[in-house]
Amino acid sequence: MTPPGGRRPGRSLVVRCAAVLTVSGPPVRNGWIEVARGRIIAVGCGRPRVPCIDLGDAVALPGLVNAHTHLEFSDLRRPLDTTGGLPEWIRRIVALRRARPTGADGAAGVARAVAAGLAESIAEGVTSVGEIATTLAPAVVDALAAGRPRVRVFRESLGLAAPTAAAIATVHRDLDRLAERGLAVGLSPHAPYSVSGSLGARLAELSAARRLPIAMHVAESRAEAELIAAGAGPFRDLLDQLGAWPAAAPRLLSAADWISLLARGPRGLVIHGTWLDGDRAAWSRLARHRARLALVICPRTTLALGGRLPPLHDLRAAGVRMAIGTDSRASNPDLSVRAECSTLVDAGLVSPEESLAMATVHGARAIGFDRVGSLTAGRRADVVFVRPAGRAADPVAAALDPSSPVVAVLRGGRLVAGSLPA
Ligand SMILES: [Zn+2]
Repeated sequence: MTPPGGRRPGRSLVVRCAAVLTVSGPPVRNGWIEVARGRIIAVGCGRPRVPCIDLGDAVALPGLVNAHTHLEFSDLRRPLDTTGGLPEWIRRIVALRRARPTGADGAAGVARAVAAGLAESIAEGVTSVGEIATTLAPAVVDALAAGRPRVRVFRESLGLAAPTAAAIATVHRDLDRLAERGLAVGLSPHAPYSVSGSLGARLAELSAARRLPIAMHVAESRAEAELIAAGAGPFRDLLDQLGAWPAAAPRLLSAADWISLLARGPRGLVIHGTWLDGDRAAWSRLARHRARLALVICPRTTLALGGRLPPLHDLRAAGVRMAIGTDSRASNPDLSVRAECSTLVDAGLVSPEESLAMATVHGARAIGFDRVGSLTAGRRADVVFVRPAGRAADPVAAALDPSSPVVAVLRGGRLVAGSLPA
């Protein structure tokens, strides 16, 4: 990695390229972007009046936002078997976690995976990550704090029993520990089949009181609805076998009720929503709370585990904000946000421009990073420069092509991956 050439302390960095994708407006062809003191100063077209770095046919776009992932699995070379859908995959995840060494060795392994996931992300142009953290051992927190992308750590909670005061105190302590390390934080009740209504209500209260975003997997499989409606089905079998189903039947909430709880905080993230179109109550609440909520779609994972994608046309018509996530390498071959965008575009569900907005400005807002997500004067200078590999004439399609190499990545105006010529 080399420092941006020609930049003296206190001076701005100006980069010229074939197109600047601001996301807040149409692409600026033959454009340039000026950055100073960590912020975007200006975007223009033509030849800038000051010396600049000329990247030729490269395209500039905002740093990408992965609104949902679990970096603890980033060391997997290939996804786990998804045969049998979500309940069977969860069984394999539990077995994987239980096979890890205990104590410091196990934590060190998770920390290495988190570091690998953050390194993979920044090299792919992902400058902001919404991470669901199940394990917060000191080594893992160190890895999260040392990575180059901005990270919001959603502290995950699971449990079908009513929460004890000690359990809630532990949540507060974990959030404080993360915040002391300079990490943005949030809350994450895991899923409707693994979290009791009483625990969910406490976490929603906490989200509102501490003004924290809250994220949850919702409507991810048909088995989830079966468990909630009848206390039966593949998830009940799994929970019984794991010894996780309590003696006193838990109070489980419907997807609609969870959506109402998630809307109590400043930002709520509904993750996946694969089967939301079959649930009119959940659907209408998602639309009603659209100012606070976003639906995060993880296309390749949803296809692998659910065999379908959420009904994006209808969600768009209802005005629901949509963002992109990769989920983890336990269900996905890599952490490429651009590959997720391409999956939606290739399926004919969104235009390249829409997928770019999902992967930048909408994702940033969803995870509460409002000062990034577009190349607009005054925003933090998280910028990716990509060299188009194919023959696409459209600069947006060219930039989102996963085979187009990332040339350089700026976070807050600092070069954090790749290189810029002198
Ligand atoms: Zn997930």
